[in-house]
Amino acid sequence: MEHVRKLPGIDPSQSAPTAGEVRDECLFSPDSRPASSPENEYAVFPGFVDVHVHLREPGFSRKETVLTGTLAAAAGGYTDVCPMPNVSPVPDSAPHLEETLKAARGGVVRVHPYGSLTVGEAGEVVSDLEGMANSVVAFSDDGRGVQDEGVMREAMLRAKALCKVVAAHCEVNGLLRGGCIHEGKYAREHGYPGICSESEWREVERDLELVRDTGCAYHVCHVSTRESVELIRAAKADGVDVTCETAPHYLLLDDSDLRDSGDFKMNPPLRDASDREALIAGVLDGTIDVIATDHAPHTAEEKSRGLRDSLMGVVGLECAFPALYTGLVRTGIVPPERIIRMMTSAPAERFGIVRDPDTNYCVWDLGEEYEIDPDKFLSKGRSTPFRGMKVFGKCKMTVCDGRIVWIDDGFDPSEITKR
Ligand SMILES: [Zn+2]
Repeated sequence: MEHVRKLPGIDPSQSAPTAGEVRDECLFSPDSRPASSPENEYAVFPGFVDVHVHLREPGFSRKETVLTGTLAAAAGGYTDVCPMPNVSPVPDSAPHLEETLKAARGGVVRVHPYGSLTVGEAGEVVSDLEGMANSVVAFSDDGRGVQDEGVMREAMLRAKALCKVVAAHCEVNGLLRGGCIHEGKYAREHGYPGICSESEWREVERDLELVRDTGCAYHVCHVSTRESVELIRAAKADGVDVTCETAPHYLLLDDSDLRDSGDFKMNPPLRDASDREALIAGVLDGTIDVIATDHAPHTAEEKSRGLRDSLMGVVGLECAFPALYTGLVRTGIVPPERIIRMMTSAPAERFGIVRDPDTNYCVWDLGEEYEIDPDKFLSKGRSTPFRGMKVFGKCKMTVCDGRIVWIDDGFDPSEITKR
């Protein structure tokens, strides 16, 4: 972990206190929301788990590296991240996966890569799932939907035999029609081609039927539409083995927040207010299990072409919890324990990620208020719709396997344990 030494304030020889020692001083408990803004409202949470990130290595290190992406993760309170397989080469066989695993060793937090569902993520031939199963967290073709129903069925059956989750990016290519943002009021008023909600939920609907047939463990990535929430809620009620995630931007923003900037360009797009409300309802009633960031860094140039021509994807690791805490918890919309569960035990349980909570945790000052400034991010990616948002909650320290992997400027861990 020699690279950690380059970070200001981190002394890797310093041994971290255990979570138990720190937790004694924690002012936050699931039953009591912290008071408005006293100084230093410290809270200790288990290390966050993000089952949907893009670390861009191997192949696209101009956008992000495993090192910069995992430093960003550590600064956001994460100890476990699962990078998607849209890298080069795509991990679709044991030799190709070896490249991803080699890159993953450069991380400062634990990295659990996905293997792809199909060769080259091309959707035509199922990958060598059997050859990769022991070294991947799950299988996904994230970045695109698997268009062919027969291919998806075969992938589900083979993943089930391996006891692995299939995580699906649901998108029907034939319904996209060159859209760049949600097909809604903003797109109509400003003359943008729209992406209809149906392009997402049609594939969710198809896959849920396949899951009923195959019995595979199925997880829907970045749910953004109310119809998807309804389909998943109904399937869960029928006992179908489905879980799903959404991302902070879909819970906190909608198309009325859009501006002509690459900061608002992601896939799926920000939907409308009724979708956002349905997602929050899904969080509250347990239909939505997991919050993932879909951290998807691109270069500044790739994000500089406005809504129409910027590449899809925004970063999220360094602002996810502060944005959610400020927008959903402090406002009383979602209980804090629900958000924490969706960022810790829920994804860990679904994806079989095992860790010791005593040596994997993050310390937050929930009373610290500041403005989200992407220019200070450790990620190479700087594009986020939360730029400039006034938030509460600063990550003061992240401990992964007993080692301090992030410490905020001027924070002294002994200050908490001694008080
Ligand atoms: Zn995706």
